[in-house]
Amino acid sequence: MASQSFITAVRPGFDHSYAALGNLFCSVQRLDPVSEPVLLLWNEDLAARLGWPGDPRSDPLQLQAVAGNQALECSQPVATVYAGHQFGQYNPQLGDGRATLLGEWVTEAGERFDIQLKGAGPTPYSRGGDGRSPMGPVIREYLVSEAMHALGVPTTRALAAVASGEPVMRTRMEPGAILTRVASSHLRIGTVQYFAMTRGGEGLRELVDYVAARHFSKELEGRSDEYRGNASLVLLDAVCERFAQLVSHWQVLGFVHGVLNTDNALLCGETIDYGPCAFMDNFDPEACFSSIDRQGRYAWPNQPGIIHWNLAVLAECLLPLIDEDPEIAQPLAQSVIDLYPQRFHHYHQLRLAAKLGLDHISESDGALIQTFHTLLASHNLDFTLAFRWLAEIANDTLDHSPLPALFVPPAALLDWAEQWKSRRNANKGDTLSITETMSQVNPTIIPRNHLVHRAIDLAESGETAWVKQMVSRSADPFVWRDDDLDWARAPATDERITRTFCGT
Ligand code: AMP
Ligand code: MG
Repeated sequence: MASQSFITAVRPGFDHSYAALGNLFCSVQRLDPVSEPVLLLWNEDLAARLGWPGDPRSDPLQLQAVAGNQALECSQPVATVYAGHQFGQYNPQLGDGRATLLGEWVTEAGERFDIQLKGAGPTPYSRGGDGRSPMGPVIREYLVSEAMHALGVPTTRALAAVASGEPVMRTRMEPGAILTRVASSHLRIGTVQYFAMTRGGEGLRELVDYVAARHFSKELEGRSDEYRGNASLVLLDAVCERFAQLVSHWQVLGFVHGVLNTDNALLCGETIDYGPCAFMDNFDPEACFSSIDRQGRYAWPNQPGIIHWNLAVLAECLLPLIDEDPEIAQPLAQSVIDLYPQRFHHYHQLRLAAKLGLDHISESDGALIQTFHTLLASHNLDFTLAFRWLAEIANDTLDHSPLPALFVPPAALLDWAEQWKSRRNANKGDTLSITETMSQVNPTIIPRNHLVHRAIDLAESGETAWVKQMVSRSADPFVWRDDDLDWARAPATDERITRTFCGT
């Protein structure tokens, strides 16, 4: 059973439990200062939640810290090593090529978060890359990750975005920037892969015990009987559970993760890597935005299955820890992996039922739901607004909502809504709360592609006021505000963005 001894800090401030595992796991990182850092965005709410000890808007030392120019007191910068399957191909060594882990920030309440600077210069894992980030991806990650958090999706978060004052060369010269990213940890399926596949598995048990202690101590207590004290099986089971929840949440929001490689799958179950991700506007059952995903491997409908694939990779890496006899380990791991489709289905049905205002979803609801999706697709209807429209009808709030100016249901959808109403009349349980829940799970505002794009253009030209407004509006995505038409509307035909680029 994993010991808790890795993770000892009880005092708020920086701690370095992962770096303390030694240089098999990470490399000491030198800071690489930039010439003229300028603060673009600062996340006051997150800073308050962390009990962060300063504010770069007023404190020049703090600005130097989030620019990677000066080490914060008690930080200990390192870059971590990992591997990963990228589009199905195994890459035996990736690692933090443009990210520096400053340490783990422990809050007053004893919560522990990685604080990472992304784009702060080359590391031993940069593999010829410059270790820098253009401003576009930094703004995109800040906006979309914070919007995801507000939508209730587990995610890494953004504490600060800083313009580096230095250009980076991509397909063109672009202004550079640095993001301060906050995560429960940055340990990935790819981290486990690295230790399972390198030097005959040296460090694998230490890593897995560490991850179990850091993220799954409750599960270890709760499931140790069922898994006969096998920490690796408990961990596998817990990671499967978190991913089933996570991907079901992405699906019902129309969120398409752009690069679901195993190195972009965090063991803690938070969304990471906002490269070429996107929320769909009009419903497209095959939605795929990423310009690098030519085969549609990570298209919206494939994401639950790809997560299953990634989890199977994790299971394979854990086999030697599950049991030294492969004949015993393999079926044990398989039985956990085989539960995943059921788990995903369970959470997906729950979320879909909540969005549609149904007490539960049974087989007989299949046709009704299928027809709804078919209508959305065939009439090119906006996915988010269509679900919000259902919430407004159910709650009888359409007359006081800006929605009629944003969403005009075609006759076929109005017909469908009559069938849907009679299905809702058959709901058992607390009708009022089922109906109210619809407004809490069907957002008014999502970080639409054309808005993110506009934010990036403005930030690149030195204009952050509108970007800040977007951050602030995205923080409250389940209500209407007076001036919402522009934030909530679907893009006009000439504004629609159907391709996204990682631009890293
Ligand atoms: P990603 O596609 O963002 O998941 O990154 C895949 C790998 O490439 C990771 O190991 C990154 O650290 C590395 N990488 C991406 N961009 C850069 C860059 N500009 N310089 C160095 N490494 C990079
Ligand atoms: Mg990545």
